[in-house]
Amino acid sequence: MDREVRAEILTIGTELLLGQTIDTNAAYIGEQLAAAGIEVYWKSTVGDHDARIREALRVALSRSEVVITTGGLGPTEDDLTCRAIAAELDRPLILDQAVLESIRRRFTERAVAMSPNNERQAMIPEAAAVLPNPHGTAPGFVIRLGNGRMVAAVPGVPSEMRPMLNEQVIPRVCEAFGVKTRIRSRILKACGITESALDETISDLVRLSRNPTIGVLAYPGEIHIRLTVKTEREAEGDRLLDDLEHTIRKRLSQFLFGRDEERLEEVVGRLFLDAKATVAVAESCTGGLVCHRLTNLPGSSAYFVRGEVVYSNAAKERLLGVPHELIAEHGAVSRPVALAMAAGMRQTAGTDLALGITGIAGPGGGTTTKPVGLTYIALASDDGVTCREYRFLADRDTNKLLASQRALDILRRHLLSHQHAGQN
Ligand code: AMP
Ligand code: MG
Repeated sequence: MDREVRAEILTIGTELLLGQTIDTNAAYIGEQLAAAGIEVYWKSTVGDHDARIREALRVALSRSEVVITTGGLGPTEDDLTCRAIAAELDRPLILDQAVLESIRRRFTERAVAMSPNNERQAMIPEAAAVLPNPHGTAPGFVIRLGNGRMVAAVPGVPSEMRPMLNEQVIPRVCEAFGVKTRIRSRILKACGITESALDETISDLVRLSRNPTIGVLAYPGEIHIRLTVKTEREAEGDRLLDDLEHTIRKRLSQFLFGRDEERLEEVVGRLFLDAKATVAVAESCTGGLVCHRLTNLPGSSAYFVRGEVVYSNAAKERLLGVPHELIAEHGAVSRPVALAMAAGMRQTAGTDLALGITGIAGPGGGTTTKPVGLTYIALASDDGVTCREYRFLADRDTNKLLASQRALDILRRHLLSHQHAGQN
């Protein structure tokens, strides 16, 4: 049995109280501790104020075995964490020669003069274990107290805090408290299906599956299905996750586009590379967002050929050869114009695939027959030109995002069906 361990997060920084910096560290630490099987019971935030940091630490230590602080370890006057912890725990600050050396080295390597206040960062509470910081100057530290409690201090800069937490703090906590249970999650990402349709498809699993449990979260244009498993053995956890993923995949098949950190554009990019196919995109209402997302990946020049942002009617005519009469008759936001944009784009760019996107992003510009959110996305390929109509109901930014999401999904679906045709 694991020894009970209650953890508490204390984030330090006046900017966090003022709302100028969003406290992403607490969210991250909470997530990572949960994944390691360590329960977080409390979290609090305090400004850069010595007495209040001490008070927050005192309260935290009165109710939690492990307290993890972030922030206030920097070299400036308002960085008080180290001093406050040392004072509260009644331990003097001692100059750590190894830390001082590593800070010096960092400055020498960068050929930057070290200011005296950087030396302050080498002052560490007595009998603390130093946590080296390869990504910055401020080291962290862990103090184990006589009463079985533990205080860990990590920097506020997220890119420095994250590796220190995962590689140094969490392993120490697990070791000290004999935590063996691991909680692990896997996210399956779906698009092109509504939340309610998805819910209908897997609601029995959501209700009945206990380990792993299933949580469904909807985001603009995609739905995440989070599987969370609790086990002592990693291999067993993997097997349980694999089994459940297999069951869900059978039901949702092509609606599932990726896993965990994978983004839709990455999946689409990979499919393009596999198919050795090329693409061009003509965008009106999305203003280049689809091109942006398609080019977010290194190596995208292998498939992305060009894009046109054609807002005016004249640009649609001149750059894509959309007939003037077509726009006059049907309007710029119409199925025939989207089809002509895709076909014209494909022809001028000479690509395997081309998209034509036209719509009303809002909030203005809608009419009863053509409401805000009405969007046409056409795909031109060897198979001909097809077009789908959408009605997005969100604000301008989200409508653009939703359109880009549908556009990428159209490419994904096309490439997938092409891939299967090729394999048969
Ligand atoms: P500090 O370690 O307090 O000097 O913080 C350095 C920088 O890290 C600050 O300027 C913030 O941008 C960032 N930071 C500090 N605390 C947090 C937090 N809880 N969440 C996200 N960013 C933070
Ligand atoms: Mg600070």
